[in-house]
Amino acid sequence: MSVSTSVQNGTTTAAFQRCLNIDCGATYDVGEVLTRCPKCFDLLDVAYDWNKVALPSKLSDLEALWSRRHDPLRFSGVWRFHELLPYAPANRVITVGEGQTLLQQADFVAKYVGLKPGQLYLQYEGMNPSGSFKDNGMCAAFTHAHMVGAKRAACASTGNTSASLAMYCAVTQLMKAIIFIGSGKISYGKLSQALEYGALTVQIAGDFDDAMARVQEISKELGIYLVNSVNPFRLEGQKTVMFRVLEALRWEVPDWIVVPGGNLGNSSAFGKAFLELKELGLINRIPRLAVINAAGADTLDVLYNQRNLRWSRGRPRMEIACWYYDELDRDHVKADTIASAIEINRPVNLKKCLRALDACDGVVRKVNDQEILDAKAQVGAGGIGCEPASAASVAGAKLLRQQGVIGSDDRVVCILTGHQLKDPTATVAYHTTDQDQFEEVLGSRGVTRASYANRAIAVPNQMDAIIKAIQLYS
Ligand SMILES: *Cc1c(COP(=O)(O)O)cnc(C)c1O
Ligand SMILES: [Zn+2]
Repeated sequence: MSVSTSVQNGTTTAAFQRCLNIDCGATYDVGEVLTRCPKCFDLLDVAYDWNKVALPSKLSDLEALWSRRHDPLRFSGVWRFHELLPYAPANRVITVGEGQTLLQQADFVAKYVGLKPGQLYLQYEGMNPSGSFKDNGMCAAFTHAHMVGAKRAACASTGNTSASLAMYCAVTQLMKAIIFIGSGKISYGKLSQALEYGALTVQIAGDFDDAMARVQEISKELGIYLVNSVNPFRLEGQKTVMFRVLEALRWEVPDWIVVPGGNLGNSSAFGKAFLELKELGLINRIPRLAVINAAGADTLDVLYNQRNLRWSRGRPRMEIACWYYDELDRDHVKADTIASAIEINRPVNLKKCLRALDACDGVVRKVNDQEILDAKAQVGAGGIGCEPASAASVAGAKLLRQQGVIGSDDRVVCILTGHQLKDPTATVAYHTTDQDQFEEVLGSRGVTRASYANRAIAVPNQMDAIIKAIQLYS
């Protein structure tokens, strides 16, 4: 892995930050460090005056840049789309080689989902340097942090954001990572990354939502750069997941993008990507978006499907969300799912996600931990391991197929957000022969069976017994 900055020059004059609240609409320079609009406290977008950007005339022109992969700017699966996220001068961008990911046609899993062969694709973001899609956004936020001279960067994390931040800090040695985690809520795979990469790790007695609230306060108080996905620059990097999907499909737009929903950064970024490509005339159709919650962390599903919260032309009734959060507090409801990366009840990007759902004729569904783990086992059996949260996308696609929302001929892309080795505890518990271990990890989650378990077989240490077992089972 090498750290480099490119020698080419670019422009930042086309980019600015803009308040998401259309009744405010305040704009700010990209050089300002803000996570929310100082005037109205709404989220910020990175926006561009596209007339000032040297854009490709068609998307396939971008492919030619891949031939310049000796240039780190073009080697990065994020920065080779620099023209579509031009907020940093090209000679200032930071990369550790993120975004070299794969769109895999997955016929074995297609069968499970109920799609015809050739119709299901898995976008495997676990291939990123820190093992999750978070690197797409982190290189973008980290680049901005470096642009504005930050020396410390912080995040609250269910694990992958902190692993990613810690990695960028360690590889570049440009900043100190300070990460906030909830107690007992982080998988060992992710925690081990943060610790080994040398992040200052602050474990708060509380859950992710508590850690998220604190990190916002504290980073403001101490002037530490915040890289949670409330940071608008992260979403710019995450747009490129969709650019790579389109590229892998030879620039054909699929029918569906299915993504797990936690803090809703991905879904928001995907919607923004498609809105911009459409506005620029680079695509002629926008795919439909399905955002999948875990049943134990189903805020978006409740607000969208039960309480009818919608984008409403830029004026969503966000008080509906506030009332819901008050109910959660009153009833002491905490997010609870085996899919720890989406164990979030107060998604910070909710409003942007509503915009994405509006732009992409979206749907929201929830799947329970049983469905998530069964889907995960099938994804693994198909040869691409993923962590539990990622499998929510596949479980969600299966559900939407059963409901007839996704048609059997539709071309569907599920995003696999994180690597299988992030959370081996869940995987091993699912496949175990040890009922106590199964119960300990999964029993409290309402997981009662492991229909796709591949169990180890116990044999005595005797030649003939071993041979007999192999012949019996293979
Ligand atoms: C962060 C994360 C998610 C949730 O993504 P959002 O953009 O917050 O909705 C899902 N899966 C994995 C593996 C993650 O790390
Ligand atoms: Zn504002």
